[in-house]
Amino acid sequence: MQRSNPKMTQDILQRFLFDTAPVRGEIVRLSDAWQHVLQRRDYPPVLQKLLGELMAAAAVMTAMLKFEGSLIMQLHGKGHIKLMVIECESDLTMRATARWNEDEEVPDLPLAELLGEGRFVITLDPRSGGQTYQGIVGLSGNSVAAIIEHYMLSSEQLDTRLWLACENGVAAGFMLQKLPAGQGDPHAWEHLTTLADTITPTELASLPPRDLLYRLFHQEAVRVMTEEHPHFGCRCTREKVGGMLKMMGRAEAESVIAERGAVDVNCDFCNQHYRFDAVDVAQLFTSDSTQTAPDTRH
Ligand SMILES: [Zn+2]
Repeated sequence: MQRSNPKMTQDILQRFLFDTAPVRGEIVRLSDAWQHVLQRRDYPPVLQKLLGELMAAAAVMTAMLKFEGSLIMQLHGKGHIKLMVIECESDLTMRATARWNEDEEVPDLPLAELLGEGRFVITLDPRSGGQTYQGIVGLSGNSVAAIIEHYMLSSEQLDTRLWLACENGVAAGFMLQKLPAGQGDPHAWEHLTTLADTITPTELASLPPRDLLYRLFHQEAVRVMTEEHPHFGCRCTREKVGGMLKMMGRAEAESVIAERGAVDVNCDFCNQHYRFDAVDVAQLFTSDSTQTAPDTRH
């Protein structure tokens, strides 16, 4: 028997369309990608789940993009949670990180209470020189799904429903979206969302996408697209960290060297450690500054 690649069997994004209704959908199941994120930091349980939900939501949103590039979702807060960041490339390479008040236990409260005064920021960054788009909305609703649904309606004028679940090491998402100028049954949206409302979190996190579609829509004509495979990946490099040190400035870098002997930087996303000693720092500031483009997102 051939050994299967766990990535090919576990992390899946499945798009689908209805032949007779102006509605499209996506199903995502993240296991490896989510676990990679959790292994890298000691996140409190509440944050583990929220990161899983946000990752599933980001994969679904990225699959809707019509350009090559990245989607960055940020939830900013002033409460127990300070920041959650998910980045997803159009090939579904994902990374995620969070900042929280580490002095206290993060309680199991509704999202709005965990964030306090919060906002949701979404950045679309086309790789090929297109305009970067940033949308910022206040928090409405008490779940990741509600925040995304509100964003899609207020910013994109698209009726979207999103169901999210994190169970048994799987972060899963199910999305339905009403197509603006579609053909077919005008009442289909209500009918299909009513059916989808019957999904339980356990079904969402455990059923393979095609089984889930059959369970919900076996009486509809559903067309499924080729499966895609989200996966964890970090874009940090020594060059990017060097660029960041350059932006910090020579005096600052040298004062850290004087105090600690080296500049140590840990990637927030993958926990990769980068060390720049006195020689590295001297080299950094004598080399041609145009060679290392600073990565402002790092
Ligand atoms: Zn990294």
